[in-house]
Amino acid sequence: MQFEPIIGLEVHCQLATRSKLFCSCATTFGVAANHQVCPVCLGMPGTLPVINTLAVDYAVRLALAVGAKLNTRSIFSRKQYFYPDLPKGYQITQYDQPYCEGGEITVDQNTRVRLTRIHLEEDAGKNLHGSDASYCDYNRAGMPLVEIVSQPEITSAVAAADYLRSLRSLVRHLGISDGNLEEGSFRCDANVSLRLKGTTKLGTRCEIKNLNSFRNVERAINYEIQRQGDILEQGGQIVQHTLLFDADSGRTAPMRAKEESHDYRYMPDPDLPPLCLSADRIEKISKELPELPQAMAARFIETYSIPDSSATLLTSDRDLAAYFESVNSMVDGKVAAKIVANWVIGEFLPVATELKWDLTKPNIDAAHLAGLLKLLGDDVISSKIAKTVFEEMLKNGESAKDIVDRLGLTQVTDQSSITALIDQVIDANPEQLRQFLSGKEKIFGFFVGQVMKLSHGKMNPALVNSILTEKLAQRRE
Ligand SMILES: [Zn+2]
Repeated sequence: MQFEPIIGLEVHCQLATRSKLFCSCATTFGVAANHQVCPVCLGMPGTLPVINTLAVDYAVRLALAVGAKLNTRSIFSRKQYFYPDLPKGYQITQYDQPYCEGGEITVDQNTRVRLTRIHLEEDAGKNLHGSDASYCDYNRAGMPLVEIVSQPEITSAVAAADYLRSLRSLVRHLGISDGNLEEGSFRCDANVSLRLKGTTKLGTRCEIKNLNSFRNVERAINYEIQRQGDILEQGGQIVQHTLLFDADSGRTAPMRAKEESHDYRYMPDPDLPPLCLSADRIEKISKELPELPQAMAARFIETYSIPDSSATLLTSDRDLAAYFESVNSMVDGKVAAKIVANWVIGEFLPVATELKWDLTKPNIDAAHLAGLLKLLGDDVISSKIAKTVFEEMLKNGESAKDIVDRLGLTQVTDQSSITALIDQVIDANPEQLRQFLSGKEKIFGFFVGQVMKLSHGKMNPALVNSILTEKLAQRRE
């Protein structure tokens, strides 16, 4: 293709405050329709909005974390349009004077995506379409959002998804949002355009609205790149549209002709004073900034001597990182941090993901996993048995020690019984012994396998290896 895609992303991220942006209604997800509403968020005449201080603090925290320029004075505007889910007839947002400009998201060591701006705004309600009628649920009206707008400089669907994962990880680390895509607290609009390779002028863009999974972001962008490419290659022109992505068919379809910002008749909201951020307030928030994912990954590599890839994965989620550190502190140095990391990533995480555990209180807590790893470190059990014990733990939440005692899984380290079993295995397999002695070294593994099988994995593997080597050498003589 002679064209290259240019992608800009707009993310709506719901701030994890307990009340809405301009009223005291609760923000709990999944409540019965229209049970979290009041005259303010329903847009009744004569009501007045009051800004949620914590939502502003969270927004500032994000701005500081991405190295953006904070505007100490910003303005709330009314974005005016009619839609049944918008009871006031306008949305309160920030337009020409947002609280934050610039900044960047670090995706990995080599990739950064610059931001245009971040602004505060309220969410709209939701229309629900039944077979006989449509309904409005205003629980979501007035929920506190930050909109994070990237520069149009992402060049592939995969890179777009990577950016979103990094941004989601960041807001979760900062504790300002749960980043829950399924519940709509992290939603993405993607602006996609194509331009001739080697040129700098942006082509006409289309905006794909409300993508709610990383997979759908990739699918929708790839579909759109293909669609626009086909039109341009045939000499056609792209019409600026707002599109919806249909996950079932994998296609985008026009929702409406793209409106321009002047269509909304933005005006400063006369009911809200300018948002002013004092230097003291900014400094206080700055001092309370938690460790960011990149810094945390660097510390993990340095402190725990674990590979970059493990550190990146463990720190992609604040709760997962805390879990790893907690297990590691409880193993009393009996196993290396690298082994702990392997267990958290290789055994714990897949199960936790599949069963959708809350990582702040997982079914296998840090003490349980640490107990298992200590038995491994003390050579009470082999790593093979450790996996069996882990599976047993999943069933009933017993401690590793209790499982090992109950099932008699303690590793055999007694040399004489290992030697006896090895002799038995060698004698029972004369053909394999002959092959080994004639130079087929690989047969060694066969003998190890037999010993482990007959002992149900309970023989200490290191001892089996050394005694078997010795015994086979004796047969050679
Ligand atoms: Zn309300």
